[in-house]
Amino acid sequence: MTREQALRHITRVCGPGWRRLVEHVYDRLPVGCTVEQVYQKWGVLRFDLSSANSSAEQLIAEVEELSTDVCQICGRQGAGEVIVNDWIETLCPQPTCFVQASKLNF
Ligand SMILES: [Zn+2]
Repeated sequence: MTREQALRHITRVCGPGWRRLVEHVYDRLPVGCTVEQVYQKWGVLRFDLSSANSSAEQLIAEVEELSTDVCQICGRQGAGEVIVNDWIETLCPQPTCFVQASKLNF
């Protein structure tokens, strides 16, 4: 999965707020490691890698941890788990982010 494919997918399914986390991973991915899949599960940004060494695994773990605090929609920190249409999303308290997130799963 190229950086562009990953950014497009995450923007569509999660929102633009996590784009910089995707960029963060692609900027630091060790040579030889490629991203197979990127997705959100239980409010956390997840990456599946083709092959992973310990530095790649550490990078992914850091970004998963970071994602629990970053609003999927606006990218602000201080976000938390919010239930939207029976899905767990990671959102800040702004009502506009909730409204935008509620449109994602349809
Ligand atoms: Zn937000």
